[in-house]
Amino acid sequence: MKSAEERAPEILKLLAKAYPDAKCELDYETPLQLLVATILSAQCTDVRVNQLTPELFKKYPTMKAFAESELPELEEDIRPTGFYRNKAKNIQRACLQMLANYQGEVPETMEELTQLAGIGRKSANVLLGNCFETPGVIVDTHVLRIAKRLGFSMQDNPEKLELELQKLVPQPAWTKFSTLITIHGRRCCFSRKPACDRCPVAHLCPSANKIG
Ligand code: SF4
Repeated sequence: MKSAEERAPEILKLLAKAYPDAKCELDYETPLQLLVATILSAQCTDVRVNQLTPELFKKYPTMKAFAESELPELEEDIRPTGFYRNKAKNIQRACLQMLANYQGEVPETMEELTQLAGIGRKSANVLLGNCFETPGVIVDTHVLRIAKRLGFSMQDNPEKLELELQKLVPQPAWTKFSTLITIHGRRCCFSRKPACDRCPVAHLCPSANKIG
């Protein structure tokens, strides 16, 4: 089998063809909405987050509205997403930080974003890639799993994996590449029983038909 460096661009091309509709699956209209949605998506599906956010964004239409919310009420509003106490606290704190330090705007650098409550590198890369045209490799549970299956890396550490994957694909494609891998994980390369028989990159995958 070819090296990871040779296979990665081919896999990118084939997944882009297989999932032409691939994009961030959280619904949002503004960077603030995507920031809130990424906080809510921790340990929760994007589908469930999307069910709740239309009402939430109607009720809290601005950063100030989130910052000045009553915490117990905000907790109730986001309860179905799980871990709602922490998430409510983080949303409120992040909005207070942005009002105090960034003139009420969502900051546009990794360094600033990761200073905000509830925002780690994964969420920051989601924001950078989708709102601010700064490509980033988004390492979620699907990317962690599939990078191993594809023989790209055996890293369990998300930050180290991010660095390794950055070397395999050209920078402009970082967001697209990781988004495609996530979609592939949701639609084909499942955690328990990957559907290798209908996988568009099976001929480039060292794990094909070897799992489950
Ligand atoms: S061949 Fe199987 S294990 Fe490999 S990427 Fe495709 S679905 Fe996943």
